Amino acid sequence: MQRIVIKVGSAVLTENNKIAKARMLNLVSLISKLKSSYDVVLVTSGAVAAGYSALKLDKKKHIGKKALASAGQPILMASYKKKFDIFEIDIAQILLTEDDFDSRRRTKMFQEIIDALLENKILPIINENDITSTPEQLFGDNDQLSANVAHAVNADLLVILSDIDGYYDKNPKENSDAKIYKTITELSPEVLQEVTTPNNEFATGGIVTKLKAADYMMKHHRKMFLCSGFDLAAAESFLLKHQQTLGTLFTYEKHK
Ligand code: GLU
Repeated sequence: MQRIVIKVGSAVLTENNKIAKARMLNLVSLISKLKSSYDVVLVTSGAVAAGYSALKLDKKKHIGKKALASAGQPILMASYKKKFDIFEIDIAQILLTEDDFDSRRRTKMFQEIIDALLENKILPIINENDITSTPEQLFGDNDQLSANVAHAVNADLLVILSDIDGYYDKNPKENSDAKIYKTITELSPEVLQEVTTPNNEFATGGIVTKLKAADYMMKHHRKMFLCSGFDLAAAESFLLKHQQTLGTLFTYEKHK
């Protein structure tokens, strides 16, 4: 079965410092539908934001962020478990850092764990291990983590569910005439060097980290689809009907 990685960000999963339960349920329901056509690996953010519902620490401080992530990770997973139970899908938690992709031995171990889980129909849910790692060991955003995961587990496609419904020629929040790109086959070094601008207080990335993830995928002959995580219609139609209604496809296939 074809493997895909789905990445969902804090902006989609949380609202007013709490888990956005209805949105999480929609995502879980979509994954349950996808499971008959794909082996799915989920990369999720939201630990720091979920932690903030239990304790109010400053997430901009090094230890504050770690304490929030450590309190929030079980809250996040408990919320997923409740929802995946409805669809009788068992889940597994994997916490990774950049170091886990550094050595062949570690990457191989990670691949074997994913293979074992998927063979047993268990859905791997991955987040960055924000807790015990030093800043040098962290990707710092789950967009680039998810691209590395997709490459390591040999997934052809990474789907990023975001607070934006695709990649635009200019910021759609400031420009009403902004146009969405349907397909992108290459990204210039300039756009990849722009400053990261997350739209949400708990989000780490912004469009630039998504473009870096897309660039990584294209350079490794894989694809990435960026679409809305608020309304999953575009993701569902792309994945289940192979129709692109909205969203941007980043692909290395130039003449398609
Ligand atoms: N690992 C962080 C969390 O779970 C999020 C990183 C990101 O926003 O990409 O809160």
